[in-house]
Amino acid sequence: MPDRMREDINELQNSLSDTVFELASIKYALDEAAIVAITDIKGTITYVNSKFCEISKYSQNELIGNNHRIINSGYHPVEFFKEMYKTIGKGDIWKAQIRNRAKDGSFYWVDTTIVPLKNRDGKPIKYLAIRFDITAQKRTEERLKQTLNELEYTNKELEHFAYVASHDLREPLRMVTSYAQLIGRKYQGRLDENADVYINYLAEGTKRMTKLIDGLLQYSRSTASKCQNFAEVDLNKVLSEVLADLKIAIEESNSKVHYSSLPSVMGDPVQLRQLIQNLISNAIKYRDREPPVIDITSKENSDEFIISVKDNGIGISPENFDRVFVIFQRLHNEEEYPGTGIGLAVCKRIVERHGGRIWLESKPSKGSEFFFSIPKV
Ligand code: ADP
Repeated sequence: MPDRMREDINELQNSLSDTVFELASIKYALDEAAIVAITDIKGTITYVNSKFCEISKYSQNELIGNNHRIINSGYHPVEFFKEMYKTIGKGDIWKAQIRNRAKDGSFYWVDTTIVPLKNRDGKPIKYLAIRFDITAQKRTEERLKQTLNELEYTNKELEHFAYVASHDLREPLRMVTSYAQLIGRKYQGRLDENADVYINYLAEGTKRMTKLIDGLLQYSRSTASKCQNFAEVDLNKVLSEVLADLKIAIEESNSKVHYSSLPSVMGDPVQLRQLIQNLISNAIKYRDREPPVIDITSKENSDEFIISVKDNGIGISPENFDRVFVIFQRLHNEEEYPGTGIGLAVCKRIVERHGGRIWLESKPSKGSEFFFSIPKV
């Protein structure tokens, strides 16, 4: 054999052995990282690595020569595997998350990629399946789903309870209120001094309870299903209606209300009115020594409109920024500022139902600015 030819053969042998070594290294790395199996085109298993045996709890002997049906958990419909065979039969890669059953009957989840290995004509001759164990992740997902379902159920129950309680309490309360008024009318000033004080307490108590129950009813009603009753709402119109409703409070408090043009948004007109009304009445109610100056403005970005109601009132300290949106949480007592602690909780629910957010910026004695966003459709 001529020297030149021998050199060429040597070179070829060297590069072949380099390639074989490289392939062996890749296989080693793959076996270390993943659950690997090879099947022939009929689906008969011809190779499994030790990770496959470990997770399926079958030995190599039990698996080789068998079919993947041996680990089928019955979880996926027949169409699922039909689609798989169709895809890989065409020579395309197939990916899915599969639930399998180990020899001891336990289930495991694997993230699977099946790569058809083809001949020179592009026809599949074998299938290489590479899988990763995602059982823990799936369990966490399942638990999370279950917890969310339970939470949703509990919330619904609570809402139903709040609704029924507030709704059914109205009737007996109306009765107590009217008899308290009757006693007041008939006996005020005709019994002793103490009786007059008690009659006043009774009237005050029933008034406050009516407010609380109405608020609770409003709160439980504010979560009707998402987007129900949604229409295009011109917030300028809503604002002028609110200002008309609050005319007396505005005049009595000497409030100055400034506003710029507001957008039209998709929403529930009754709830949006409630939202703006609650924010403006708070701006009037929580005033400081100066008469209230209230600014209602709007800005927008690509996704949402942001409306703000700013006042020059008593302000809120930062540690209470979240607290004010929690139902029945009040920062002042009834004597200082009357209220129920429901208004801002209702605002939060309304804004969230519209897919938006509500927040505030404030400094004690310097005033507050409440913001809410409504997504653009
Ligand atoms: P309510 O006014 O009936 O107490 P809200 O839910 O509307 O209930 O408000 C919760 C608390 O947040 C109020 O008790 C008050 O302390 C505080 N707050 C709300 N709005 C303002 C405001 N504009 N300025 C200062 N404090 C406010």
